[in-house]
Amino acid sequence: MTKGGPSSTPVAPGGTIGILGGGQLGRMLALAAARLGLKAHIYSDESDAPAFQVCAKHTLARYDDEKALDAFSASCDVVTFEFENVPAATVEILARRKPIFPSARALAIAQDRFDEKSFVQSLGLKTTAFAAISSDGEGEAAIAKIGMPAILKTRRLGYDGKGQVRISDAAAARAAFRNFKSAPSILEGFVDFAFEASVIAARGRDGRFAAYDPPENLHRDHILRRSSVPSRLSAAQCAQAKAGAESITNALDYVGVLAVELFVCKDGALLVNEIAPRVHNSGHWTLEACVISQFEQHIRAVAGWPLGDGSRHSDAVMENLIGEEAADWQALAAKGGALHLYGKSEIRAGRKMGHITQIKPMTRT
Ligand code: AMP
Repeated sequence: MTKGGPSSTPVAPGGTIGILGGGQLGRMLALAAARLGLKAHIYSDESDAPAFQVCAKHTLARYDDEKALDAFSASCDVVTFEFENVPAATVEILARRKPIFPSARALAIAQDRFDEKSFVQSLGLKTTAFAAISSDGEGEAAIAKIGMPAILKTRRLGYDGKGQVRISDAAAARAAFRNFKSAPSILEGFVDFAFEASVIAARGRDGRFAAYDPPENLHRDHILRRSSVPSRLSAAQCAQAKAGAESITNALDYVGVLAVELFVCKDGALLVNEIAPRVHNSGHWTLEACVISQFEQHIRAVAGWPLGDGSRHSDAVMENLIGEEAADWQALAAKGGALHLYGKSEIRAGRKMGHITQIKPMTRT
């Protein structure tokens, strides 16, 4: 349990939550904080960060700007983040000054795909087979271990399918590795899954755990298209998925919301694909279908408040609006459902511009 020190003092209304990162997740966190009478101070290195539009304070500076980080931390009661690629040095600087949740350790594990999968396996949870490749010479051994087809991914800094490629022979693996400029990588067995799902879970500073109903997720070109609840997971699989997330959060002494992405195999097995130490795109439907959304749950956890009731009162389907799909906002506004537009200054291919959630009366849990 997380006890003692300044981190045990809850942040009272009027206090400030510092958030590293200014994308749509930071934006929705800031809105949730505001609802609880808390202020959000967003730190981003992008002048047009969508979260700047909705927060009480913002800092536009590089993540290695010590002076700016100092001033930022002085204005915050606690610090959190909305993306997992926050540089470790930034977290170290801030952690010396203010409580930071989730911890630097949770962030470090989630930043490296090899460490992450090794950690997950150490808890007795299953993943697909994987092997590290850090030099050209290691490719053959990795292929012999994993087999084909496989997916080569950079260990660090990949998201939405960036830094990953499906390969079917050794020559393709070599070419892909060179294309990654020999960045340390992992080769993963390709999973012929039945479908994908995720668990959005939360752990409070007092060690209490809560998890939302696991959504079923559909990806195209490695980018999330749709999340829906209820999923095709059985009650036993839901319980197993939540128990896995609980063991991950306990092992990390985690504080905040965490997502565990799962492959659901045709034989019913659940494999952990990755951990996101933050609120997650597959949890956006909680804004409309639950009393307390993932964003409020995260703010509550890092602020040291009791976790809220995350139970679901409706079925929900959340569709992402990617690139040009967000252009015709009038048609989207007329479509029904809850429309969220993230206030991004420019439409780009593959860019998450917003989402729409449709809810209907609950059929089953
Ligand atoms: P990731 O960046 O690891 O979350 O991967 C993004 C998406 O690519 C996943 O949600 C899957 O749809 C697909 N994917 C990633 N790794 C694998 C794998 N080993 N086998 C099959 N599909 C994968």
